[in-house]
Amino acid sequence: MVKDKDLLASVSGVSADSEFFSPIPEGYKAGKTKYVFVMGTVMSGLGKGIFSSCLAKLMQDKGLKVAPIKLEGYLNIDSGTLNPFRHGEVFVLDDGMECDMDLGTYERMLDQDLSKANFCTSGQIFSSVLNKERHGDYLGRDVQMIPHVTGEVKLRLRHLAMQTGADIIFVEIGGTVGDLENAYFIEAMRELAYEEGTQSSCFVALTYILEPKTLGEQKSKAAQLGIKQLMQLGVQPDIIACRASNPVTDTVRQKISVYSNVPFERVMSLPDSASIYTIPAMLRDKGLDFEVARLLKIEDRISLRHERKCCAKWSDFTDKIEAPRRDVTIGITGKYTSVRDSYASIINALEHAAIHLGANVNIKWIETTDITDSNAADHLADVDGIIVPGGFGTRGAEGKIACIKYTRENNLPYLGICFGFQMAVLEFARNVCGLKNANSTEIEPDCAEPVIDTLPEQKKIEGLGGNMRLGGRDIEIKPDTLAWRLFGKADTLRMRFRHRYEVDPRYIETLEKAGMVFSGKAPEYPIMQILEVRSHPFFIGTQAHPCLTSRPLRPHPMFVGLVAAAVQKRYPEENLPDCIAAATKVCSQYR
Ligand code: GLN
Repeated sequence: MVKDKDLLASVSGVSADSEFFSPIPEGYKAGKTKYVFVMGTVMSGLGKGIFSSCLAKLMQDKGLKVAPIKLEGYLNIDSGTLNPFRHGEVFVLDDGMECDMDLGTYERMLDQDLSKANFCTSGQIFSSVLNKERHGDYLGRDVQMIPHVTGEVKLRLRHLAMQTGADIIFVEIGGTVGDLENAYFIEAMRELAYEEGTQSSCFVALTYILEPKTLGEQKSKAAQLGIKQLMQLGVQPDIIACRASNPVTDTVRQKISVYSNVPFERVMSLPDSASIYTIPAMLRDKGLDFEVARLLKIEDRISLRHERKCCAKWSDFTDKIEAPRRDVTIGITGKYTSVRDSYASIINALEHAAIHLGANVNIKWIETTDITDSNAADHLADVDGIIVPGGFGTRGAEGKIACIKYTRENNLPYLGICFGFQMAVLEFARNVCGLKNANSTEIEPDCAEPVIDTLPEQKKIEGLGGNMRLGGRDIEIKPDTLAWRLFGKADTLRMRFRHRYEVDPRYIETLEKAGMVFSGKAPEYPIMQILEVRSHPFFIGTQAHPCLTSRPLRPHPMFVGLVAAAVQKRYPEENLPDCIAAATKVCSQYR
């Protein structure tokens, strides 16, 4: 019989005369990195990413090095060309990768910057396999889903293991068990688990327990069938996490245990939770972290001291969620449909800022297509602050400019993000500098005053995929400005970008002379990255997307500033301290 440690050697390599094919990166050591596979049954939208990131956080708190990866079934190479209103926001990583919004959940939960190695689509897998085929790398063999495509998936995971030196890789498989497009990922996981040997991996199946109103009781059949389907693919789950709107009854857990060969204590109830930040504690209370540690035989790598420290910090934060908080309303200009997912990072960033300030943000979504200078007040009178978020195209742009005019003239706190930065420049150019025809060439290609125009490097590019100015960039901060105060008097800082247009440098002088302050710019180019309007309590815009780097324990200063200013505006009778001082105080604790 082949022993575990020899398994990898026996299947590895690429050879013309063996049926085995499993390319292993050079220097890869089996047993160093363990794997947790998270997959969903019954339906999508169970919160696999949230579950997996919370579990990863519990293991990270124990002093283990973790690395997540999302395997996504679609054929796109990245998420850059996806419509956020269909697929949720496009999340941008520091290295410029445009990816699924789940990577944002991982970065926030783990407070860890991820890279393109953490996001893998079928498009990437197939294009790599096809390239290798053209190179003749498959030594005359017919190239097949098994073992070549599954081999490519395993290679990706092992590369990630080597690159990160992780103790555990959390592999989230997109879609639902039974989807044709994800089936080969599950097959690859089955092969990998076998090759790595016993106690090297752990399969977690997320499932859903139905509770039809007409019956008033929980039904487990759909969950059972979903798990059976997984077992038909040769995967025996080790843990079953039962999502449901209410706590899952012991009867249902017992039934699932009987049908799935999973011990009762590893069939867990995971009811809906008001905040995702309290889920780690819920999982820990159920002992999920130690079940995983035991299954992976990794207990000897755990530091309980590290865990105690991390848990104390985290519960300080979650205690604030439960404490009484002051209500404020922030208006966000955006389409009504599927807004939660398409603006996920903004919603999260607002939440982080609000929790630390003892505030509770209610969001008012503002559709701007019908807003003009004369009716803006009707839409904005009941909000305490405004965000104009990122966007593309022309729809609602004039309405956004009208909202910004109202905001600027009525001392309403303002945060403009990317497109919202550009619209603030246009508003100022038109209404303060008197450039009545100021526009963006994205909106009016032949406008007389192209104050916002394509970046020089963009003029040469054709096609839409992955070619914007993307990813993390340094920003030089001008001393004695609002940004400088907010960011703790830093000279430079880093934010993430995703844009094609910028302020045309020829207009900078005119704008500055009229009172607009460009407090952040690119170090070597005249690319304006942060703007502010003096004599206004809080008016700031950035060409970047600050929401992408806001973390629960490191809220983003721009959002903290906006919410602090909104609180001050809403509760004038409380004589609150200066909002910028309040914001910098919060941010300084976490720098
Ligand atoms: N459409 C604008 C640009 O490409 C803004 C992009 C954005 O908001 N992400 O520059």
